[in-house]
Formats: sequence, C-alpha cells, structure tokens
Amino acid sequence: MLISNSEKGDKVFENLELKKEIELTEWGKKIENIKKKKLKNKDETFKIIKTMAEGFDNLQETFSHCIGCHNCGTVCPICYCRQCYFDSSVSKPNADFIMMRAKERGGLSLPLDRLMFHIGRMSHMSLSCVSCGLCTDACPVNIPVAKIFSYVASQTQATFDYKSGENAGDPLPMKDYRLDEIGELGKLVKKAEISESHNE
Ligand code: SF4
Ligand code: SF4
Repeated sequence: MLISNSEKGDKVFENLELKKEIELTEWGKKIENIKKKKLKNKDETFKIIKTMAEGFDNLQETFSHCIGCHNCGTVCPICYCRQCYFDSSVSKPNADFIMMRAKERGGLSLPLDRLMFHIGRMSHMSLSCVSCGLCTDACPVNIPVAKIFSYVASQTQATFDYKSGENAGDPLPMKDYRLDEIGELGKLVKKAEISESHNE
C-alpha cells in the first residue's frame, strides 16, 4: 500500500499515474486495534517485569543466573562507549584482589560485579533504549533483558517527557538543558539557602 503524506508524494503519485484517493478508514481501524492489543500486552508484561526490576533484592534475583558474558551490551545498538569500562582491563581484578574481597566478605558470588554491569548500562542508555529485543535474543541464559531494560526505559524516558526514536530531531535529554530546569534548580538553591540561614 502506498500512502502519500506530502505534496511531493502527491506529485510522485501523479507522475506514476497512481490514484491517491484510497480508502484508508478500514486500514486505520485495523492499525488502531493492533495498537490497542500491543499496548495491553505491554501493560500486562510491565506489571510482571516491575516485580523483577524494582528494588535491589528483586534485581539481584533477576540477574542471579547472569554469567557476565556481556553479550547483551555487545549487541545493543544504543550502547555507545567506545571502550566499555566493564570490558576494560581496569575492571578485571587480579587474584590477590579477589582473595582479599572474599576474605572481607566471607565469600564471593561469581562473576564479580554482575549487577554493577547492568545498573551501569541502564544508567547509560535507558534514555535511548528502543526496545528492539536484541539483548534478550543474545542472552545465553534466557534472562528477559530487553523487557527489563524496556521497563526501566519507560520510567526514565517518561521523567524527561521523551521517547527514543519517536522524532529524529529530538535532542537527547541529558544533552539538552531547558531554561525552566535552571529555574527549578534556582528555586532549590534558594530553598537550601533559606533553610541554612534559619539554622544559623
Ligand atoms: S532492547 Fe534496549 S537495551 Fe536491549 S538491545 Fe535493544 S536498545 Fe539495547
Ligand atoms: S547476555 Fe545474559 S548472561 Fe550475558 S551478561 Fe547479559 S544478562 Fe548476563
């Protein structure tokens, strides 16, 4: 199906001698129904994922089978660091350090810093996650990584009133400061100053 959405498009239709007055009502209804079903599925899935992703203990349990392969980060089209800290030599502790940590804590869960990797990744790219699902496909131990990241992304993106991939021109929130944000910051500073002067 071809739909013209601009004058330029109309011109192309004209040159190709195609009819542009096609009946789109039925098609539109079908799309709306599919959209409704998908949104319902998403809401139901997020209800389950919320219990897996919110709270430290739940998150730890969710990623307890993670083998630290980092496949989920490697395939992610959004993960943007040229050198991932978690794959760098700095993040690879030597045997002495591991033994020292084990002694201090009375034991160690391996691989080390498993949760740090996921939390680090969430803080880096949840604003840009497009819910493509690649991370789930790449996980060898069947953790629903994409659903978890998509859930977290829905929270962080809503905070900034931003939807990744919706409009190509929208600036990434962390790169873009709105004047009213500075105003809000000013109010907070003033409030802190007032309460400080009262304390004195
Ligand atoms: S679902 Fe999100 S986190 Fe997973 S690979 Fe796609 S963009 Fe990356
Ligand atoms: S792909 Fe799966 S097992 Fe590998 S680091 Fe990601 S969550 Fe862990």
